[in-house]
Amino acid sequence: MNEFDLINHIKKKYSLGRIGDDCAVLPMNDTTDRLITADMLVENVDFRLDWTRTAFIGHKALAVSLSDIAAMGGVPKYALLSLAIPEKLWNEEFLEEFYEGWHHLARELNVELVGGDISRTPSRFVVDSTVVGEVPKGKAALRSGARPGDSIYVTAPLGAAAAGLAILKSGRRPDVANQEDVNELILAQLRPDPRTITGIQIRSNLEPSAMVDISDGLSSDLHHICEASGVGAMIYADAVPIHPAIDRTLYSSNSKLELALHGGEDLELLFTVDENKFSGGRFDRFHRIGEITANVGIVELIADGKGRELTPKGYLHF
Ligand code: ADP
Ligand code: MG
Repeated sequence: MNEFDLINHIKKKYSLGRIGDDCAVLPMNDTTDRLITADMLVENVDFRLDWTRTAFIGHKALAVSLSDIAAMGGVPKYALLSLAIPEKLWNEEFLEEFYEGWHHLARELNVELVGGDISRTPSRFVVDSTVVGEVPKGKAALRSGARPGDSIYVTAPLGAAAAGLAILKSGRRPDVANQEDVNELILAQLRPDPRTITGIQIRSNLEPSAMVDISDGLSSDLHHICEASGVGAMIYADAVPIHPAIDRTLYSSNSKLELALHGGEDLELLFTVDENKFSGGRFDRFHRIGEITANVGIVELIADGKGRELTPKGYLHF
């Protein structure tokens, strides 16, 4: 049983219909729905103190939740932040720096910290982030609206965060002259930025039939849309955009594509849309990677004129 099996089991057993999208969508008033999302970062699972900076942990804790609000096309408003702090980190410098990283991003997007909790932990630092947002009533971009024939888009080239993680894991820098590229990839892993404004624009201007953030990896997150919508998908290997900093480093073309297909944590957005509703030009800033099919639950990858099934290989904790 993996984490998705557990969530599905709980959902079924207790008939919990609202679980399963990037955020829960709750009625707020006649014009607005409320969005709410929770994310947990655990030391040595989701980050390592010796690979990152304290301020980046604060930034990322907020960014992953903002990314879920963005995936619904929502406007973030309020946040709760709970910390379990080990003795070794209970000092002013660490905590100041953590909150500074958190607040720097929060100020940018007008998010107000309204509460949280603090406890101790015997060894590892744990951060639990909750963000509340708003979206016009009935307009949240769900995972469940994709229909056969819809186009599939991603907001930007992919794979940078996973490439950054691979660099950090290897303990070495790829053998390239351009250190800037390496830094860019590492920062994409350690200090990712949510697509808040882009998410709001897509929701309000493009009427997406489904949207999700790419947190587990394109292959996994596209499966999430397919499962929720009861559809399949076909994507073209040539059309999957690979982050340019990856392209300039020494990865083989095969592993570059693997990073873009399966690498998690980019915090870009993946959306589907019935393009027939629009005249040309509107989608030029995004990357069309394929289309939704009636082949329920199956994502097909077309490469060199041949199709093969693309199984989800994104990040699973268990
Ligand atoms: P995301 O990566 O978008 O944050 P997850 O993959 O973590 O989403 O979770 C998928 C869905 O399951 C979400 O709707 C989330 O709120 C829900 N979920 C995750 N963990 C739990 C849990 N322990 N209990 C109930 N629902 C959960
Ligand atoms: Mg998400």
